[in-house]
Amino acid sequence: MRLFLLLPLALCFGLRAASPPPVYVTVWFDTEDFIDPRSDDAAKEIAERLRALGVRATFKVVGEKARFLERNGRRDVIEALRFHDIGYHTNYHSVPPAPAEYLETMDLAEGAAEFYAREAGGVRDLVRIFGQRPSCYGQPGNSFAPHVYHALERLGIGLYFDAFTQVRIDDQPFWYEGILTMASHDAFTVRAEPDAPPGIAEARQAVDAEWAKLQQRGGGFLSIYYHPTEFVNAEFWEARTSPAAPTLREASGGCRSRALPARSGALMRRSRNSCDT
Ligand SMILES: [Zn+2]
Repeated sequence: MRLFLLLPLALCFGLRAASPPPVYVTVWFDTEDFIDPRSDDAAKEIAERLRALGVRATFKVVGEKARFLERNGRRDVIEALRFHDIGYHTNYHSVPPAPAEYLETMDLAEGAAEFYAREAGGVRDLVRIFGQRPSCYGQPGNSFAPHVYHALERLGIGLYFDAFTQVRIDDQPFWYEGILTMASHDAFTVRAEPDAPPGIAEARQAVDAEWAKLQQRGGGFLSIYYHPTEFVNAEFWEARTSPAAPTLREASGGCRSRALPARSGALMRRSRNSCDT
């Protein structure tokens, strides 16, 4: 299996027709929990383990998460992530109102300006803290809005990279509003679920199966993603913000996270639904 950094990946499609159908794998982590410091350690460990394997992944970081790391003096985590590709995952993730909510009644131009006004500071903070411009944008949960596309170029981001269902063409990359969009979801997106044995073995079979399908189609890209917070929590972080109030994820139009029995060192949550990014 060949692993490629996200950006060169986009440039590699269309290689020589005589070559075997290329299958590219993206490994990415939505790094968003700005409540639980243990998720910082999880992100660091993931980043370091991948680096030791010679793999560069994409960490899509929330602006407030980057500032959380900075405020807490976690230069070690920042440095570990900096080895990898850094993407942008909104300024405040699912803190209401999420993009789809506040953009709902706006036209494209008005909404793009509003999105830029709310998000430019987060992008600037990522550049300042990580020393690199985010390569891509990914939405919080289900919070998709077409206005975002019109703001991304102004934000210096040319790639919409996520796992969602709102806009898709065969779960492979396509251009939409001038922005390269990589948004596989049901097909060609694989996650291991170690909390539900056989876990890793099952995931390997799933990767092999998706890989074979892509080769039969003449190549393509396969997506593997997690959230560092999943490795230390049985419940998604937004669900812990206020027991008495709707969770951030519910308030932002996403889905309630499903808590599973805790198991140390294992992923805790079922995925492959549309609510988990
Ligand atoms: Zn997210």
